[in-house]
Amino acid sequence: MRRTVTDVVVIGGGGAGLMTALSAARLGRSVVLLEKNPKLGGTSGMSVGSISASATRQQRAAGIEDTPDAHFEDMPKFHGSRLANRDNPALRRILVDTMPETMRFLSDLGLVFMNPVPEPPHRVPRLHQVLPHSGAYIYLLSKACRKEGVDIRTSSPARRIVMEAGRAIGVEIDGPVGPELISARRGVVLASGDISAAPEEYRSRHLPPEMSGIAAINTTSTGDGQKMGEAVGGSVVNGDIAWGPEIRFVAPPTASFITRLPPVTGFARLVKAMMGLLPQSVLRPFLMSFVTTYLAPSHGLFREGGILVNKRGERFCNEQDQPHYAMTQQPDHVAYILLDSATAAKFTDWPHFVSTAPGVAYAYLPDYERNRRDICFKADTLDGLAAKIGVPAEALKQSVETYNAGERGERPALGAGPYVALGPAKPWIVFTEGGLTINEDMQVVDKSQTPIPGLYAAGSAGQGGLLLEGHGHHLGWAFASGRIAGRNAAFNAIADSQ
Ligand SMILES: Cc1cc2nc3c(=O)[nH]c(=O)nc-3n(C[C@H](O)[C@H](O)[C@H](O)COP(=O)(O)OP(=O)(O)OC[C@H]3O[C@@H](n4cnc5c(N)ncnc54)[C@H](O)[C@@H]3O)c2cc1C
Repeated sequence: MRRTVTDVVVIGGGGAGLMTALSAARLGRSVVLLEKNPKLGGTSGMSVGSISASATRQQRAAGIEDTPDAHFEDMPKFHGSRLANRDNPALRRILVDTMPETMRFLSDLGLVFMNPVPEPPHRVPRLHQVLPHSGAYIYLLSKACRKEGVDIRTSSPARRIVMEAGRAIGVEIDGPVGPELISARRGVVLASGDISAAPEEYRSRHLPPEMSGIAAINTTSTGDGQKMGEAVGGSVVNGDIAWGPEIRFVAPPTASFITRLPPVTGFARLVKAMMGLLPQSVLRPFLMSFVTTYLAPSHGLFREGGILVNKRGERFCNEQDQPHYAMTQQPDHVAYILLDSATAAKFTDWPHFVSTAPGVAYAYLPDYERNRRDICFKADTLDGLAAKIGVPAEALKQSVETYNAGERGERPALGAGPYVALGPAKPWIVFTEGGLTINEDMQVVDKSQTPIPGLYAAGSAGQGGLLLEGHGHHLGWAFASGRIAGRNAAFNAIADSQ
């Protein structure tokens, strides 16, 4: 078998893996980064791109006083008693304490963030949205890695961690030219993402049965790191917790011209400057054109009178009672949100937003009409709308009649057109929270909490029971844990056999 010898091997080319590789390489170590897909990015590159952090330059510039201690206290308010006793406060402490420095590190790499926005129950605005979109993390981190000499190998899935005398000493891969052993003199870091798209047989060992069959947004998040870690004595914690199932609109079918441009720092700075100068009417369509991700329709759409219909034009559930589960029983798991003109008219202004959206914070129907014509349809009549979304008109009209004649609680009947349909929308597992059990040095530990020598984990693969509720904590953890894992693997003593 071919063999390469290096100091540190990183498995995964998303946010955590790139940060790990950069951190180790800047300490003078040789690093091989393995990415199984043809392109870097992972879920990090598909994300909205927001990060929650305290004591940042951006907060200070906006006159916001904040501390890691306040951040530490606010984080558990997101899950309250729902997940009491499931958190890892030691890792939460590490996250909040290292985020100010991590944000400085990212800013120094050239990443540009919007002014922080509020997200209660955070006591102050802490949510930092990257500009122009999350691809900037991958672009700038991989550029910095290349500059430091990291050997980045795409289309190179890691298959197995090689152990010798109880220590991780390398990784077997299926490289583009065949099998290869990458020997790691100092450490192997698992940064391979979550388990949301693992084969059902593996998912069902961790996730609750009602999530069976629900698609993952990132279809390549197959839990490889968790499986490889378990195979050498590690264990998965919080494997039953997932973000979802959640209804989201499908992503735009093709990337806009703007999102295909390299997300260089100068462009991001220009976008930020424009945000302070241009009127909303000009700015909103521009900012919405950066949106590449899967947006989640607001529950307000259903509360105010929107109904869900499937591809057969049939209403199939009470939209206010966990509709995502009923959607999994519909053809292709797909549904459209149908609004009459009165409800549609409401969703043009605060507080009636269609979804949140990066850059503009909240997106309204006019934003969708302008920027998301692939999922926003309008017609004067139900017949016309049925033709536009490709469902049988008679069934659609019957669904509206039955809904109007039935028990609706506080919700209004569907009245006159023009009608709007938003969709297709589908139920997804957005991501999962189950990561390997790690200690505060990001070392993977075995069932007796003893570190497995030479083996580290970061990001989702190394979530270690840390609860990351609210927005912006997952990317925060990917970058913060990656920096620590990279540094510790770099400083680890060389394996005797190497
Ligand atoms: C639609 C969406 C929006 C989101 N928005 C936000 C947000 O705004 N803020 C936030 O904090 N979080 C957000 N998240 C969550 C966040 O993106 C992830 O939790 C985070 O990016 C995980 O980073 P990671 O580096 O651990 O994993 P990833 O970014 O998934 O990287 C893992 C990489 O490892 C590779 N890999 C896997 N197995 C192997 C193998 N065997 N060999 C080699 N390579 C392998 C994968 O292909 C992938 O590239 C969002 C998630 C989704 C789905």
